[in-house]
Amino acid sequence: MLKRVSLFAGAVVAVVTLAVVFAQDKKEPEKVDVPEMKFDDVKEIAPGVFFRYSSISATDKKVPFGGSNNTWIVFKDYVVVIDANFPKEAEDVMAAIKKTTDKPVKYVFDTHHHGDHAWGNTIWAKAGAKVIGSKDCARLLKTKGPAEWKQEQDKLDGRKDIKANELKLVDEDFAEKLVLDDGTQTVEFHFLGHAHTPGDAVAYLPKQKILCTGDMCVNGAFNYCGHADTASWIKVLEKAEKFDVKLVCPGHGPVAGKDVLAKQRRWFEDLRAAVKKGVDDKKELKDITAGLSFDWYEKWTGVGAKTRDENAEHVYKELTGKIDHSKLGLLTPAADVGAKTE
Ligand SMILES: [Zn+2]
Repeated sequence: MLKRVSLFAGAVVAVVTLAVVFAQDKKEPEKVDVPEMKFDDVKEIAPGVFFRYSSISATDKKVPFGGSNNTWIVFKDYVVVIDANFPKEAEDVMAAIKKTTDKPVKYVFDTHHHGDHAWGNTIWAKAGAKVIGSKDCARLLKTKGPAEWKQEQDKLDGRKDIKANELKLVDEDFAEKLVLDDGTQTVEFHFLGHAHTPGDAVAYLPKQKILCTGDMCVNGAFNYCGHADTASWIKVLEKAEKFDVKLVCPGHGPVAGKDVLAKQRRWFEDLRAAVKKGVDDKKELKDITAGLSFDWYEKWTGVGAKTRDENAEHVYKELTGKIDHSKLGLLTPAADVGAKTE
């Protein structure tokens, strides 16, 4: 018996129609309805596939950060959840799932090791779920997780849900691809390379043509580059664009059409080109950053490119040989942790 009444009764869902050109038929753009949602809304975006839009804003500081977005897929006998979120938010998502199905959560998939995507593992595991992640997601959560978790616990103003819980690691990892298929639903987990982190992986639903990207693609000015390889990230996005996709469920920001993958790629292409020009012209980082201006980016995200100083600094360090990508995510906790978990 489905119990989704309270979530959806009376809800008038506005839709935005996007024209998306698909690889297999470039002449006939397919119209895709992208649901418009408010924070914490849950919507069934395809039969048996639900998306919860978590709060985040690059322009309004009053909006609290609600962790990652979540997608869940209802199989015949169980539920698969994309991203564990933080522990507190995992409980909120669990309550939302119970309004859509009585089936138990059997698997939770960490798109990467960051706290807002993996620290809620403990909650899902206590409810009987198995945690899935890529090999490098599992490795980074294991090597970095304990110190990060303790640092948060020791903070006077640290998260209460971290103080009250313990770190839970990945149970089952995969190198390239792992598929869950029970004849009614199919979810494929793909590792496509180093993007936002060395361990990023995506969840692809071939029947519904939905791609859940984690932070490999966000919809808005929410990129954090601390563990990124931006040259590789562009290649990963190119690979993702080869998938037959109608809807993208990003790690942060509203659900989108396939076009958001190209926007995310263009950000790193344009940023790298602008920073490279600045480096070639022997400009200082602060002057390069202050000169960043892409109208299309501001139109997309609502903020100017020059406000994304963390992204610019990371690219500057990459292009000036100051970053060893093989060591990213493995710095000492004091230098590496806590600032951002997006
Ligand atoms: Zn992240």
